Amino acid sequence: MNCLFCKIVSGEIPAQKLHEDDSCIAFSDIHPQAPVHLLVIPKQHIASLAQAAATDKALLGHLTLVATELAAKQNLSKGFRIVVNTGEEGGQTVDHLHLHVLGGRAMHWPPG
Ligand code: AMP
Ligand code: ZN
Repeated sequence: MNCLFCKIVSGEIPAQKLHEDDSCIAFSDIHPQAPVHLLVIPKQHIASLAQAAATDKALLGHLTLVATELAAKQNLSKGFRIVVNTGEEGGQTVDHLHLHVLGGRAMHWPPG
């Protein structure tokens, strides 16, 4: 499968990894939109949140907790944002589920 994030999981494409465990990795976004901008992705290929199944419940919880732990490690005690762009109108450009962790500046609402 020609999936950019699967290639990062396999090591074929390099990334600045900040976390790795049995089921996920986290790395710095190549085009940061905030002083801290990380991506947390499952090792398993799931195209988007819309393709996640009931059997992925524990994995989805794990990804969220890893994202939150990384926000704490990055000293985002004043707050942060977790974003999961989903589908074309959701702004998803890479079809492998990923959680954006953004922080280090005040976020705007509503998002664009
Ligand atoms: P999305 O638009 O929600 O699908 O997010 C995809 C994200 O992946 C964007 O923020 C990109 O900057 C990021 N991205 C694309 N290629 C790479 C890469 N090789 N390494 C790290 N981040 C990447
Ligand atoms: Zn993939």
